[in-house]
Amino acid sequence: MNKYQAPLQWLSQQKEPMVELLIKWVNINSGTENLEGLEKMLLTITEALQIFGEQIENIPLEPGVKLDNNGEIRKLHFGNALRLIKRPESPIQILLCGHMDTVYHVDSPFQTANRIDDNTLVGPGATDMKGGLIVMLKALEAFEQFDQKDQIGWEVIINPDEEIGSLGSEPLIRNSTAGKDLGLIFEPSFPDGFIVCERKGSTNFTIVSKGVSAHAGRDFDKGRNAITHLIKLLVKVEELNGTREGLTINLGHIFGGGPTNIVPDLALCRCNSRMKKMEDADFLLNRVEELIEEENKKDGVEIEFHKASYRPPKKFDIAHQHLFDDLKECSQDLSQSLSWRPSGGVCDGNIFAQEGLTTVDTLGVIGSGIHTYDETTHLDSLTERARLCALFLMKIASHAIDINRYKQMNATVKEQ
Ligand SMILES: [Zn+2]
Repeated sequence: MNKYQAPLQWLSQQKEPMVELLIKWVNINSGTENLEGLEKMLLTITEALQIFGEQIENIPLEPGVKLDNNGEIRKLHFGNALRLIKRPESPIQILLCGHMDTVYHVDSPFQTANRIDDNTLVGPGATDMKGGLIVMLKALEAFEQFDQKDQIGWEVIINPDEEIGSLGSEPLIRNSTAGKDLGLIFEPSFPDGFIVCERKGSTNFTIVSKGVSAHAGRDFDKGRNAITHLIKLLVKVEELNGTREGLTINLGHIFGGGPTNIVPDLALCRCNSRMKKMEDADFLLNRVEELIEEENKKDGVEIEFHKASYRPPKKFDIAHQHLFDDLKECSQDLSQSLSWRPSGGVCDGNIFAQEGLTTVDTLGVIGSGIHTYDETTHLDSLTERARLCALFLMKIASHAIDINRYKQMNATVKEQ
């Protein structure tokens, strides 16, 4: 452990500078689609990353599309992602990833950080995941003090659109996984400090029902009620819940109609589904499309299906089990505890996994209430997690941990 001491000790003294930086970052609103706020966030992160002495790339993302509440497709702008590459010639290559966007819109009532006590801070995006970005930054800063650092080259990607499914940054993330030996993502762990081993897959889709508008009194029979048809269909979609183990469908947002004396010609429902197996996503989407087809045979109604995003499930395979065991050993060296359990939530770790990159995706801070107005960070976890991550990197660099075997394990399993 001795050769790792100096960077670890330096990190132990970094709590207050980390908290200060966290408050500064949390006070910048960087809700997804708040392009001005995201730009501010990007500049301030860029400033912090200057210490690594590399060129920091600003990568514009291709605009995406979004279905608005009128059933019209409109352009969606994401802002820019940020990339930093250090020592691409080193024998071991690690991809580190995080997101700068939050779920709190520009006009959200929840805008600033509030330090409750020595160990508690409440603020928008404090835990998910500005705290995590600071853990990543400081862990790397500590690692760069290690004398065997040249064994590891690393790449940092920070995207502005994770909270809406990384719709714009997904190709960038996929490309960056190429040639990497390990992935580290700094999403928050569970409130009790457990990290996530396995994740369900997730898909978002919208069902749009188009009918014929008419006066509800004079011409009711000439109208075709978009809401009625949508509801009939949704009852059938809802029944698909649990038809495969772990398959859930949430009818999340419904919109349609207007004055009650008009037969509505438009209604839509935004849905999210989670599944344990990739084939369950195909099963679900095919079934929904069949149901729509049946509904469309009825006179005067047109129901459309729009798929917005899909992230495949992330499995806890043999390589991941060894990765987590290695990480646990590091936590024990630091007198910390580390455990894990599955989550129904998704993140960019699902994309890493699909690309075959062994990844731990919850190396960020410990906290609670993410995506609510009570989002809370345990401030001690800033240095705890940074120390864990830095020690893990140092052990990999000094070959005390052999990450090549993760790849070999997965290859062996595939051959069998
Ligand atoms: Zn997040």
